[in-house]
Amino acid sequence: MNEHDSFRMMEILSTLGFERTQEIGDASLILVNTCSVRHNPENKVYSFLGMLDKLKRRNPALIVGVAGCVAQQSGEAILRRARVVDMVFGPDQMFRLPEMLDAVQHGERIAWTEWQDVRGRVHNFIPGEWLERGHLDGCIAFIAISKGCSNGCAFCIVPQARGREISREPDNILEEARALIAKGAKEIWLLGQNVNAYRAGDTRFIDLLDAVSQLDVRRIRFTSPHPMDWDDALSDLMAARSNICSYLHLPLQSGADRVLEKMNRRHAIAEYLNKVCYMKRVNPAIEISTDLIVGFPTETDAEFEDTLRVMTEVRFSQVFSFKYSPRPGTRAADWPDDVPRTVKEDRLARLIAVQDAINAEQKARYIGTEQEILIDGTHPKHKNVSSGRTDGYRPVSVAAEGLAVGQIVTVRINGVQGHWLTGEHEA
Ligand code: SF4
Repeated sequence: MNEHDSFRMMEILSTLGFERTQEIGDASLILVNTCSVRHNPENKVYSFLGMLDKLKRRNPALIVGVAGCVAQQSGEAILRRARVVDMVFGPDQMFRLPEMLDAVQHGERIAWTEWQDVRGRVHNFIPGEWLERGHLDGCIAFIAISKGCSNGCAFCIVPQARGREISREPDNILEEARALIAKGAKEIWLLGQNVNAYRAGDTRFIDLLDAVSQLDVRRIRFTSPHPMDWDDALSDLMAARSNICSYLHLPLQSGADRVLEKMNRRHAIAEYLNKVCYMKRVNPAIEISTDLIVGFPTETDAEFEDTLRVMTEVRFSQVFSFKYSPRPGTRAADWPDDVPRTVKEDRLARLIAVQDAINAEQKARYIGTEQEILIDGTHPKHKNVSSGRTDGYRPVSVAAEGLAVGQIVTVRINGVQGHWLTGEHEA
């Protein structure tokens, strides 16, 4: 969602005549879009702002803004702590960038963190004039179908940083999707902090996904769903529609029921496993990734072993794993952070080792198969090699000449390099 917001900001700035620089020293405006979901990224914001201080001394006309979740939560405190900053604004203020820049250019230092005035659960929070300009990064489009979250997971700062959950009207979303397809989108991502809790009147997430899958688009993905709001009908729809990709990021967080309950995740492990089992039965090609936290307050060794057991049973395609760190303002921040740092580090290392072994085995099974790949750019390290993704969201580097972004090609997988599959395409 943050990346999506960054692209939106670039679009807004381009209408004001700004262009993206390749060198930070050439910039006349720097916007730092921030994430507060963990402690580390928040610390990095202030060290990065310290670095910008030097740039501003060399170029006093440089404008520096801080956006995103840290901005929403800290507001004016950022202006007080970092003299280099001219403007601070939360996600709901993003579309007012032209006004904000105007205020700064007239000598003001501002912190705009008000929430949009929304009554009820449904609100078209993308202003009408921006619908036609939905964000398209090469051939991949991101559409925010909802924002915020009304759940109260004990570790999570999103409800405070992004507000309560608001869904957009389906027609408004479909209008944006059609505009993006007309511009050349081959893949659409539906985004929401709790994407499958989407609800606009009688329209549920499954109805919206069904409607989007009937548009002329080759690939559809969505993130992130909550296991509590997942049901078998969604698995059936994914299996039935060839343009809904066989990839699901389904955050688990812990493999132990007691820890899940303490986290206020509101589902049990058996329920998660039953849903995954059904999904794999109706769609054997499905790849499932997840988020896991180690060292949540009171997590025992045995409960951590339960997490490893669930990983071994589900065999995730990717795990985003984190050592727990308390976020001020969350419920868990009031509890003792009682799992020692060394224990958290040891658990994380063991978890990564288990996942690496699973992943190595999964990737090896791709060798010799043919995969449909959407070419989305160039390999970050090899300029003459194209990059793309399988339907199941595995990154693939493709050694072939003349491939264009947006092309969908059949690739024979011939190897593995780090987390990439490698392959060849014959024209
Ligand atoms: Fe945070 Fe996701 Fe829980 Fe919402 S459902 S509170 S976004 S972890």
